Amino acid sequence: MTDGAQQAAAGKAKTETFAVKAYAAQNKTAAMAPFTVKRREPRAQDVQIEILFCGICHSDLHQVRDEWDNVMPTVYPCVPGHEIVGRVVKAGSGVKKHKEGDLVAVGCMVDSDRTCPNCLAGEEQFCESMPTFTYNGQDKILGGVTYGGYSDTIVVDEAFVLRVSNKANLPGTAPLVCAGITTYSPMRHWKVGKGQKVGIVGLGGLGHMGLKFAKAFGANVVLFTTSPNKIADAKRLGADEVVISKNPAEFTKHANTFNFILDTVSEEHDLNIYLSLLKRDGNMTLVGAPPKPAPVSGFSLIFGRRSLSGSPIGGIRETQEMLDFCAEKGITADIEMVKIQDVDKAYDRLLKSDVKYRFVIDMASLKA
Ligand code: NAP
Ligand code: ZN
Repeated sequence: MTDGAQQAAAGKAKTETFAVKAYAAQNKTAAMAPFTVKRREPRAQDVQIEILFCGICHSDLHQVRDEWDNVMPTVYPCVPGHEIVGRVVKAGSGVKKHKEGDLVAVGCMVDSDRTCPNCLAGEEQFCESMPTFTYNGQDKILGGVTYGGYSDTIVVDEAFVLRVSNKANLPGTAPLVCAGITTYSPMRHWKVGKGQKVGIVGLGGLGHMGLKFAKAFGANVVLFTTSPNKIADAKRLGADEVVISKNPAEFTKHANTFNFILDTVSEEHDLNIYLSLLKRDGNMTLVGAPPKPAPVSGFSLIFGRRSLSGSPIGGIRETQEMLDFCAEKGITADIEMVKIQDVDKAYDRLLKSDVKYRFVIDMASLKA
C-alpha cells in the first residue's frame, strides 16, 4: 500500500509529502548511491531543516551492512545519518523553540512516546515504546521506515530539534549529537570528575570526544589504543597517558586503579582485561556496540565488586546541556570533511581505524 492509501485505510487525513535528495544503501553489500526520499510537509509542531553537515558514525556502517541483524535488522533502502546540523527553512505555526534561519541539530532520535516514565523523566533514549530513531526507525506519521541525515532536508518535531549557537563551528558540532552525547552522558551519570582516574578505550569518533570530556571534567585520563600512530594526537586531545593495548604487559601497572572506564570499541575485543583495571566499586561502561557478544568472566566483576554497564546516547534535555557546555568550553569534534560521493571510502577507512577523528559529510556535495 502507498503511504496515502495506508493513511486512508487508517481513517487519517493524507499527509502531504515532497521529494528530497539522499544517499542510500540498497542492500548490505551495495555501495551507497543517490536515492530520493519523501519528507512530510511540516505539521504545526514541525521544523523543516536544510541539512548542511552530517557526521559519519560507525553505527551507520554497522546498520548499512546489517551487522546488527539480530537486534535491529536493517530495512532497505537505508539512508543513514544521525549527526545532523542545518538551518531551519520552515517552521510550523505551533513551533515555539525555533524559527526560520536558526541553526539547529538533530541526533539519533526524532520522536518517542513522550508518556512513559522514562520520557517523562527526560530520558527519551529509554522510551518504553522505543524512541523513533532518525533512520531505520518506524515512521509513525508516513508509515514505513525513517530516513536519516545523508540527505539535503529533514522534517522533525521541534521537541527533538536542538539549538546550536550561531557562533558554532558547524562541521565540528555535527558529531556532538551522537559521538558527543554518547560519551558525555555516561560520564555525567557515573560522576566523572577531579581526583578520578578514567580510561577511554579506542580512539575514534566516540573515543576522541570521550578524551575531551574526561579532561574537561578534571579527571586523570588514560587512553587505550591499538594504534601507536595515535599517541601524539591522544595527548593533544586530553590523554595524560597512552597505553598500547596490543601489549598486555603494559596493563599490569594499571591493575585495580581506575574509577571508571569508557569502552568505545566497535569490534570484538577482550573486556576482562579492562575490568581487571577497575578499583573497588569501579565501573566500566560499554558504548561501543560490536555485533558479536563478548564473554565476561564473573570473577572479573566479583573481585572488587566491579560493575559493567552500557549506555545509549542521551535524552534531549541532556543533549542540549552538552551542546551548551561545548559552546561555553569551545569543545568541538576534530573532523575530516568528505563529499557524499566518498562515503564508502570513509567507511573503508573506519574499518582500518583510520579516522581523525570523525568524518563529516559536506551536504553541499549532494547538490553537485
Ligand atoms: P570509530 O570512529 O570507527 O572508532 C572505533 C575505534 O575502536 C577505532 O578507531 C579503534 O581505535 C578501535 N578499534 C577498532 N577495532 C578494534 C579492535 N578490533 N580491537 C580494539 N580496538 C578496536 O567508531 P565510533 O563511531 O566511535 O563508534 C564506536 C562504537 O560505538 C561503534 O560500535 C558504534 O556503533 C557505537 N556507538 C554506540 C552508541 C551508543 O549510543 N551506545 C552511539 C554511537 C556509536 P584505536 O585505533 O584507538 O584502537
Ligand atoms: Zn552515532
